[in-house]
Amino acid sequence: TIWNLGSINADMIYDVPHLPAPGETLAANRLDRFLGGKGANMSVAAARAGARVAHIGAVGPDGRWALERLTEYGVDTRYIAGVQEPTGHAIIAVDTKGENNIILFPGSNHAISRDQLGQALSSASQGDLLVMQNETNLQVEAARMGHELGLTVCYAAAPFQADAVEAVLPYLDFLILNEIEAEQLQQASGQSVTDLEIEHVIVTLGSKGARYYHRGAPSDFPALKVEAVDTTGAGDTFTGYVLAGMDRGMPMAQAISQANRAAALMVTRHGTADVIPDLKEVHEAQFD
Ligand code: ADP
Repeated sequence: TIWNLGSINADMIYDVPHLPAPGETLAANRLDRFLGGKGANMSVAAARAGARVAHIGAVGPDGRWALERLTEYGVDTRYIAGVQEPTGHAIIAVDTKGENNIILFPGSNHAISRDQLGQALSSASQGDLLVMQNETNLQVEAARMGHELGLTVCYAAAPFQADAVEAVLPYLDFLILNEIEAEQLQQASGQSVTDLEIEHVIVTLGSKGARYYHRGAPSDFPALKVEAVDTTGAGDTFTGYVLAGMDRGMPMAQAISQANRAAALMVTRHGTADVIPDLKEVHEAQFD
């Protein structure tokens, strides 16, 4: 089982004729509501990849639809609490040229309780995976508990914050970050990814694929060639697929190759959690 302490967001996408100026009231032409948040995206990706995924998080009184959608995608929602804060959401204005403005409100994602986390992890078995990203509260507590319980503790260092990464580093078995985040970590802590005492580190490299460091020793996994139309959610899809592979006991190389295929397919699609490909699509996809 993969235990994911993760964010759940409503991505509210408003199509507008132009981005609003200060003081301007602007009517939008269209509203789409998608399931998002790095946490939810990773849970959906791992479930789509065939893993058992229990999501630990919180939604507000307006969040029932998010639970329904997660359930529909195969994610166990029993450890998601209902809280008084509004469900985390992003208000995204997109103009006719595709430029955007985003207001992100973490809301319920910062209202996860210690009791809830403790209760969820008391159901975990040794050898299970625990994953976190930097969009919820209780990351450090979770990492420490997971480590003490003998879980494989994984962290996706996004959105990047040096203190957040440094606080969980001592507990990690697996760290995943993109090229920019790896550079930010180096600048903030003076440590390059090869210096970290973490068994598995992956740096994703966008259209160049990914580099995997096993106890500091690198190997490269080139990306598949595709026509990219929307790269949002590519990193989360990649991570979810790697975790699913690890949870199944796959060799890392095989898990990463599969994740590269899933993420490549993802960048050919518009949208986030709702369009993450399943294992069958990933196997059947034809690449040049
Ligand atoms: P993030 O979205 O977190 O910044 P990256 O941009 O590094 O992460 O992308 C994550 C993964 O998505 C890459 O490792 C790769 O597998 C895949 N990917 C991203 N962009 C492309 C692309 N243009 N072509 C093929 N694969 C891509």
